[in-house]
Amino acid sequence: MEFKNTLAFAQSLDAQDNLKAYRDEFIFPKINGEEVIYFTGNSLGLQPKRTKAFVDEVMKDWGELAVEGHFYAEKPWWDYHERLAAPLAKVVGALPEEVSVMNTLTVNLHLLMVSFYTPTKTRFKILCEEKAFPSDQYMFQSQVRFHGLDPDETIVEIKKRDGEHHWRTEDILKKIEELGDELALVLIGGVNYYNGQVMDMETITKAGKAVGANVGWDLAHAVGNVELKLHDWNADFASWCSYKYMNSGPGNASGIFVNKKHLNKKDIQRFEGWWGTKKETRFLMKPEFEPMENADAWQISNVPILSVAPYLASLTMFEEVGMQKLIEKRKLIVSYLEFILHEIDKEVDSSFEIITPEDRGCQLSVFLHGQGKSLFNYLMENGVVTDWREPNVIRLAPAPFYSTYEDMYRFGQILKAGVLKNLK
Ligand SMILES: *Cc1c(COP(=O)(O)O)cnc(C)c1O
Repeated sequence: MEFKNTLAFAQSLDAQDNLKAYRDEFIFPKINGEEVIYFTGNSLGLQPKRTKAFVDEVMKDWGELAVEGHFYAEKPWWDYHERLAAPLAKVVGALPEEVSVMNTLTVNLHLLMVSFYTPTKTRFKILCEEKAFPSDQYMFQSQVRFHGLDPDETIVEIKKRDGEHHWRTEDILKKIEELGDELALVLIGGVNYYNGQVMDMETITKAGKAVGANVGWDLAHAVGNVELKLHDWNADFASWCSYKYMNSGPGNASGIFVNKKHLNKKDIQRFEGWWGTKKETRFLMKPEFEPMENADAWQISNVPILSVAPYLASLTMFEEVGMQKLIEKRKLIVSYLEFILHEIDKEVDSSFEIITPEDRGCQLSVFLHGQGKSLFNYLMENGVVTDWREPNVIRLAPAPFYSTYEDMYRFGQILKAGVLKNLK
């Protein structure tokens, strides 16, 4: 398709957009009385209008039924989370029994590492990407220390090549090969939070499994964004948060995937609690733990219903639309944004550098040579919500559910005006 940097062209793309009705399903913040152009769905997705009804229902049931709500609420609380498994499994490419909802992302990764990082004297190394999301780095270091090991000797980071902004799959595969039977765990961000790169999860998983390691994925930036086939790829485990591309609200419940081959095992290491035991006998309050046959075996506490209800609301949208349509729109709108950036770059003779490689999802990370934070601030004051990462990068992530092509065009015009002001 031949793109044009005009309002009329952007509007014509919107007119053909078969997801256009969904924009009105979301609440947009306003700046200067106008709805913002929102590029930070990769950080906190917008609030769907339908979410309130899901939360209100729980509040009403709690008020009217109190403890009886566990069994007699409109959606009884004791198995509320089970409603999420089937739709969520479709989003991540899993079987419904491989998916559960609980806690928050870093907590879940810790719990999954308890099960899937069991170092021995000879096989103890962890492979991750360099400059992983800080929470993941703290997690790795503390897990390694917990096992009495030295982080410096245990955590191996895959580097980017000098002068390059992305990781090369061949370098990752080479490292896996090199570590061989010392490698206990590969745990990488499926989509990198900084440069927006989509890792070749299938190939990397296969390579990790081939040397006998466990392979897990942090899917914070991948879920609801790119195609995932966790089951077919034969990943051992994964976890993700739900508040980025899945629009479930600040700090709300996280999801986990545990491959079917690890379910129904008694001898697996796991931190356990009453919500992981068989629900048929849970309330007999027996002393011995009998794991649920699905990924719910990793649940520890009873489910935080007010944190899961918005996630269920969000999943109804994913059910209606399906990942395929979201991915189709995502590809087109991100290409259009890329085109706009190049056009503006030419018009104002600035020097933006898109550091996101071809393998990408919703996010374009743009290195602003020259003008930095002042331009970011100008965008914000003029209704464009992006985010800033050191040293000089803005991240732009249109969300296929609610971003329009017109947003991309208008963003370009605001960006151009900002650059021409030559802010220091
Ligand atoms: C957003 C994000 C997190 C957030 O972790 P929480 O435990 O939900 O606070 C972790 N890892 C990555 C890669 C992220 O992008």
